[in-house]
Amino acid sequence: MHSGNPLVETWIPDGGFKIERRKIKTPDGSTLAECLVPKWTSDDLTPDHPCARQPCLHRVLADCPPTPEGILALSDRYGLLTVTIPRRPAPGEKIRADVLPPEPLDIWRAEIRALRACVDLWESIAGGNRDATAALNRKLAEKLAGARFHLTACPGEGRFLLAYRPLRLVDAVWQRFAEEISGRIQCVRCPAPKCGRWLLRGTARSDRVYCSNACKNQVFRAQRRRPAAVTDR
Ligand SMILES: [Zn+2]
Repeated sequence: MHSGNPLVETWIPDGGFKIERRKIKTPDGSTLAECLVPKWTSDDLTPDHPCARQPCLHRVLADCPPTPEGILALSDRYGLLTVTIPRRPAPGEKIRADVLPPEPLDIWRAEIRALRACVDLWESIAGGNRDATAALNRKLAEKLAGARFHLTACPGEGRFLLAYRPLRLVDAVWQRFAEEISGRIQCVRCPAPKCGRWLLRGTARSDRVYCSNACKNQVFRAQRRRPAAVTDR
């Protein structure tokens, strides 16, 4: 079974999102809350596959400052966590941004907080603290319970591959976290100075160390300059 993680789809307004107070439903009725909404309701939505572009999105989200600016920057780039469009458009059909329901910022804050807590537990376990295992297991089970996936068969490697495609970005993010702690994937930071971007070290690309050729060349040039600087002294 292949991971369907890269197949998760989000819909991003061409002009991005803005933050506005909107009425949202709560278990007790309704309340006003700060929400992400399309900047322009007449915008078109463009589909995106955020986990295909950034396979370590769970790590990126855990690093995100839970401020309106930090959340807005990530939603503009990757789409909304829990909101999906009501129906898939026909080929060539445009979908207007006002079909997206508002998404409260509190959802983002809660997921960022939970991801940070789980990343801390995971790093503590990796550092030898086996006592953190039960706590991580409990937190992750809570997050994966009720996650929505569709079983799909997609063409690849000359045959059809079975995969579980997450329906919402938030489910894809927790699926990725589970893949990392189960050893299916390895996420590392680019070691180039002033970079630190997350990248995947998969089995197929286990030699990949830097996020880009630009970072690789930067480190290579710095290493070439260093012996010359010592000789000059
Ligand atoms: Zn880099």
